[in-house]
Amino acid sequence: MNQLKQSIKFLTFIFLLGFAFTVNAQEKQTPSSKEDIQNALTGGVPMGRWKEGLLFEGIRPMPWLKSAANWFPGTEEVQPNEIRVTFMGTAPNIRPGQMNTSIYIELGNGDNFVFDMGEGAVANYVAARVSLNQIKHVFITHLHVDHFGSLPYLWMFGTWAGGWHEPLTIYGPSGRTPEYGTKTMVEGMKMMLGWHIDAFNVFPVGKGHDIQVVEFDFRDNGGVVYEKNGVKVIHWQRSHAKDGASGYKLTWNGMSIVWTGDGRPSELDIKYAKGADLYITELQPELMEINSGVQGVPPFLARYTVDTHHTPAYASGYLANLIQPRMFMTTHMNFDPFLNEETVAEVREHWKGPFHFGAPDGIVVNITKDLIWVREGILPDYPNNRAPQFNFDNGQLIVPHPTTNREEIQEPFVREQQIDPKLYYPEGYMPHLLEKWPVEGDLVVPVEQLPENLRNSMGQAWKHKKKNQKILEEQKATEEAKKKKSNKN
Ligand SMILES: [Zn+2]
Ligand SMILES: [Zn+2]
Repeated sequence: MNQLKQSIKFLTFIFLLGFAFTVNAQEKQTPSSKEDIQNALTGGVPMGRWKEGLLFEGIRPMPWLKSAANWFPGTEEVQPNEIRVTFMGTAPNIRPGQMNTSIYIELGNGDNFVFDMGEGAVANYVAARVSLNQIKHVFITHLHVDHFGSLPYLWMFGTWAGGWHEPLTIYGPSGRTPEYGTKTMVEGMKMMLGWHIDAFNVFPVGKGHDIQVVEFDFRDNGGVVYEKNGVKVIHWQRSHAKDGASGYKLTWNGMSIVWTGDGRPSELDIKYAKGADLYITELQPELMEINSGVQGVPPFLARYTVDTHHTPAYASGYLANLIQPRMFMTTHMNFDPFLNEETVAEVREHWKGPFHFGAPDGIVVNITKDLIWVREGILPDYPNNRAPQFNFDNGQLIVPHPTTNREEIQEPFVREQQIDPKLYYPEGYMPHLLEKWPVEGDLVVPVEQLPENLRNSMGQAWKHKKKNQKILEEQKATEEAKKKKSNKN
């Protein structure tokens, strides 16, 4: 009986489906006049678009985006001439949906850079399908822990997950005295991680544990902290209560991105950020009394913190108006319904151009020389890690030999009291246990001998980089040929 009911339901469904297609079918008619089509499709604006609301000149989706509203990790490649910026951590107060500050910048040439690495941000990198061994350059604006708290995890687990061939490099300002500089912070981190580092030496580590530090003089305004592959990063000092806070500007392919880090608005910001394509700063709206009630911060503490350390929302708009970026964004801010409208109103006091929040976590910005578009990234709660990414230029996967083993770092009696696996594995099932590293010396596997799934998943970023670099080189050659020709003429 039940089966009969189900069959009837199914047949009814099929019938309705057929009906739906029937009513949607269109009979062919005589086309409208060219003029009518033109008038209707352009809405009476001959050949043009409206300038609506926030849709300023050049602020619209690129044709290669899979969705104009959302970014889905792993579905779009950065185009050869494009920059993609993802907000991986967006608030000083860590909470679900807003990890501590971190900005991820991917360039069309395959390079990527991290600016600040606040607590919890690693979760969003994983969700965005960034393999931790892809992160090699981390620029820290200053040593408040909400800007570097994830470094220990990134360093240790990024090494474990294939970060074997190139060490992590941390760039950051000096302090007024050496003990307050970035170098000392990294030395302290090494000491803190002493046990962890030695414990992880039972794994392939290679160069992964040889962390590098590039500490620059925070006073050297406009100094170059990084220059390679056509990428240049400069820095300048920011007023953030204590010496040793810096802003950064990254320039590549005729475009520039500024992340100021934390600080009070200053003349130097205008000088170095002027004309940036994307200008990102922090802000605090003038809602000390209400905000303190909601957030549980005494108003005098909020007021004092902002007036000694931070950029009021009004000031952020004031700066943007003098800097005139193609897109202005703010981050390091609580994303709350009761704050958001007020924040926009305060920014708009001075800045009338394109503006978006760099919050909450997962906001994605695509930038080319002509277009900029901001979307919400869809970061899953339970993502799988992306496979570690390797450079296969030499045609090999090299797995370095671990530098230690359990016998070296563990007393035998601790191991001897382990329960015999035969007691817990079901009868007839006994996996081949890997209790000792299976090879002497480095394991060297020609890429063609890797199982196909590993070859494809671990070589993805490398392939993409090679493809884009080839396109960029061809572009350069064409441009140079054009120049030569026009010089002759
Ligand atoms: Zn901060
Ligand atoms: Zn700070």
